[in-house]
Amino acid sequence: MVEKVIPIRIDEGKGLAPSIPEQLVAPHAHTQDARGRTLRDLRLSVTDRCNFRCTYCMPKEVFDQNYPYLAHQELLSFEEITRLGSIFASLGVEKIRLTGGEPLLRKNLEVLIGMLAKLHTPEGKPLDLTLTTNGSILRKKAAALKAAGLQRLTVSLDGLNDETFKKMNDVDFPVADVLDGIQAVQEVGFENIKVNMVVKKGFNDHEIIAMAKHFKSTGIILRFIEFMDVGSSNGWNMAEVLPSKDVLAQINEVFPIEPIEANYSGEVAQRWRYLDGSGEIGVISSVTQTFCHECTRARISTDGQMYQCLFANQGYDFKTMMRSGRSDLEIANAIMNTWAARDNHYSEIRGSHTANPSTGSRKVEMSYIGG
Ligand code: SAM
Repeated sequence: MVEKVIPIRIDEGKGLAPSIPEQLVAPHAHTQDARGRTLRDLRLSVTDRCNFRCTYCMPKEVFDQNYPYLAHQELLSFEEITRLGSIFASLGVEKIRLTGGEPLLRKNLEVLIGMLAKLHTPEGKPLDLTLTTNGSILRKKAAALKAAGLQRLTVSLDGLNDETFKKMNDVDFPVADVLDGIQAVQEVGFENIKVNMVVKKGFNDHEIIAMAKHFKSTGIILRFIEFMDVGSSNGWNMAEVLPSKDVLAQINEVFPIEPIEANYSGEVAQRWRYLDGSGEIGVISSVTQTFCHECTRARISTDGQMYQCLFANQGYDFKTMMRSGRSDLEIANAIMNTWAARDNHYSEIRGSHTANPSTGSRKVEMSYIGG
């Protein structure tokens, strides 16, 4: 049962003011955080709104008509997002993932994608530009996303059975429309499509085999995500986490699999392939096998706060900094400073105390910071 008294959005006020060092240095890609991790990825939330009310992310009881969503002027504009993207690229970021809320709800998102697609690394390589979506309006958007220069995408889908899926999304949204969205992106030529399934024990774990069977041999990579204690409103409970090792054991019994090498260091999913050569799956085990030690990800919320971790409770206010006339060099130095001070490793120190919103510190909601 989700409590209604949840402290809702972010930090009730502004984030911390990022500090700008007196001695400015040229932007470079070697800044390490306090644990020796280098900045490589950026997750950008483009809206805090969503048309789903997944019980594990934006439960209806909290995200109702009284929820204080950000007003339009509080959101970063496309120009501000692109400016930040370009500064992050000068600091070694090679991959940008757009997320939310539901990113496709942001009006004219394809225009933003077109702007971000022009960014490149200091070596002149285009950034790896990708998006995570619930797939609900993908059919409508597929061609525009492709034409704008989006390279890849990940679609979230928590089951193939309508009753189960509707129970998860809590807005009566049918599976068929998400599958149709996936088909639409295949039709316009997207490759490397991934599907993310959050597994909640006792809710949708009976769908694991059906999902594996459905996406096997399609070229689509299905990834199973452990239910996480993000935010403070999803009523997280360790008893509802199905460890990835159990997911893998279930699949292996029906479709034998073996582990394969990561594509790159810091990849969040552990990869497995079907022995019959019909493709691969992944597991994201942020509860039972933490990967903080290789996390190279910074996050920018919908209103321009930089978060050092998905489980943080305080952001750094880069929107105010941008709107107060600071130069790109000053902003780059402030980002380097913020990154250098990063010591977060929440998943490694998670316990029932830290994960409980009434006893641990309050964490930012995922819909605002971006999944
Ligand atoms: N609306 C988009 C979507 O559905 O993909 C993007 C935002 S959503 C927050 C990003 C991803 O985070 C989705 O795959 C979602 O299932 C996952 N997610 C949300 N809450 C989660 C939780 N408590 N534990 C694990 N994954 C979660």
